[in-house]
Amino acid sequence: MRLPIRAVTPKTEFAEIIGWVHEVRDLGGLSFFLIRDRTGIIQVTIPKKKVPAEVLDTARNVSRESVVRVRGRVKAIEKAPGGREIVPEELDIISIAESPLPLDVAEKVPAEMDTRIDSRFLDVRKPRVRAIFFIRSMVTCAAMEFLASRGCINITTPKIVAAATEGGTELFPIAYFEKEAFMNQSPQLYKQMMMAAGFEAVFEIGPIFRAEEHNTIRHLNEATSLDVEVSFADHNDVMDLLEDLIVHVYGCVRETCADQIAELGVDLTVPAKPFPRIPYTEAIDIANRAVEEKLSFGDDLSPAAERAIGDVIGQHYFIVDWPTDIRPYYAMPYPDRPEFCKAFDLMHPRMELSSGAQRIHDHDLLVARIRAKGLSPESFEFYLRTFRYGMPPHAGWGLGIERLVMTMLDLSNIREAVLFPRDRHRLMP
Ligand code: ATP
Ligand code: MG
Repeated sequence: MRLPIRAVTPKTEFAEIIGWVHEVRDLGGLSFFLIRDRTGIIQVTIPKKKVPAEVLDTARNVSRESVVRVRGRVKAIEKAPGGREIVPEELDIISIAESPLPLDVAEKVPAEMDTRIDSRFLDVRKPRVRAIFFIRSMVTCAAMEFLASRGCINITTPKIVAAATEGGTELFPIAYFEKEAFMNQSPQLYKQMMMAAGFEAVFEIGPIFRAEEHNTIRHLNEATSLDVEVSFADHNDVMDLLEDLIVHVYGCVRETCADQIAELGVDLTVPAKPFPRIPYTEAIDIANRAVEEKLSFGDDLSPAAERAIGDVIGQHYFIVDWPTDIRPYYAMPYPDRPEFCKAFDLMHPRMELSSGAQRIHDHDLLVARIRAKGLSPESFEFYLRTFRYGMPPHAGWGLGIERLVMTMLDLSNIREAVLFPRDRHRLMP
């Protein structure tokens, strides 16, 4: 029976494994193969005089990255990876790989990001790259499990929509039969509508589409958002929930992905609660002590400002109490100082991870805010009508999964955290 490579130990007597040929070394009388599957790497040693003729024959023809099946005795040997090797009695090529390879999976020859993405299926065979996606999978599973345990219902909302969430230019128009439609920028309006439907607490993990014009290391044109919306909650309640989620997810990754963390060589510390909550005006002051291009009240934080504040705070933190004018129309203004609203951003010292707010649940105030943003309430009628038949107060946030993984694993480019990145210059693979 086939064993995962990791399950073959120095004490195993006999094993059959299937995997990819990671490396081939021929030393005359002896040849070595490293065989890799998703669980690990094992050495296969072929003493030319001691193995069957068919094994030798096959060994001569095998190329790197071919899929092979090996059956043989296991021997404890200190110098080999995992302290063991297999001496084959049988060796079959299941699927041959062409040479030369477009990419060196053993990473002896470094490759640029573009080359790597062009052959992403090979790139992901690298243990280091696979570790990223193993952890990403744990991040989304842990987040879903956490939110379900907090009573959130998992929803799926449309990605082809007729109206922009917030107006604006970051939209991808598409041809939808006789009409123009758009790829959805965010599930914002739909998750709020589910508050009117009485779901009370919902979450969705799904794609968001943004026509980001510029290539940056932290923007994708197709990203994955974890969205949450909760009824009878305010901004502070959902910040608590977000903070708990981050700590839970980091904890799960630490507990279950020790091998992957070691493979990546990162220091994954679970962030400490509570995360500091810094008012926007204070954040601007902190930034202005460090950045050359000074910020004024009402400016969005530049990447340089975000980093400057991150350096001072040194851990995850929230920026709260934003000027109403620079937040979306659905953010709830403070009743006693309406120039500020109950919006927040969750920040990692390197960059923004999430934006959220208590939302406006009063129909007329919402209409006034839409108008004030220069948008037309008519195009939001499908959304606005849900505010006329019993809309509970509610709050929520959207968290970028790629940015969460990127900052958790200290990756230098967001493209490292997505299998098939979409940017201005890339539609394939
Ligand atoms: P930024 O100002 O950093 O471009 P944003 O404020 O426009 O982000 P939001 O609309 O607040 O983004 O979206 C919520 C979260 O979704 C962001 O905090 C981020 O984690 C993620 N996100 C948004 N746009 C992108 C994108 N183009 N690529 C990757 N992640 C994104
Ligand atoms: Mg934001």
